[in-house]
Amino acid sequence: MRIEVDLKKCTGCGVCREECPKGARIWNINEKARASNLRYCHLCMICASKCPEDAIRVIRDEIPNDENKKENLGN
Ligand code: SF4
Ligand code: SF4
Repeated sequence: MRIEVDLKKCTGCGVCREECPKGARIWNINEKARASNLRYCHLCMICASKCPEDAIRVIRDEIPNDENKKENLGN
């Protein structure tokens, strides 16, 4: 998995850092967010859902499997 921050959208408000239940997994550096030390990230998506600028994408490696599940459910 990885977390991407769109630095063009990010205003450096710090909400993502404050809201992460696993500690500061998203840091503000030079007034922009950077994802780092994601070892404890449990993919709750709170950071992405709370970002007022919609600047965060939490990307799961399992997405292809989820798509397979959807296809199987549709059959
Ligand atoms: S919540 Fe969004 S806009 Fe605010 S610092 Fe984090 S990524 Fe940037
Ligand atoms: S997905 Fe959840 S645990 Fe991971 S960085 Fe975002 S808020 Fe923190």
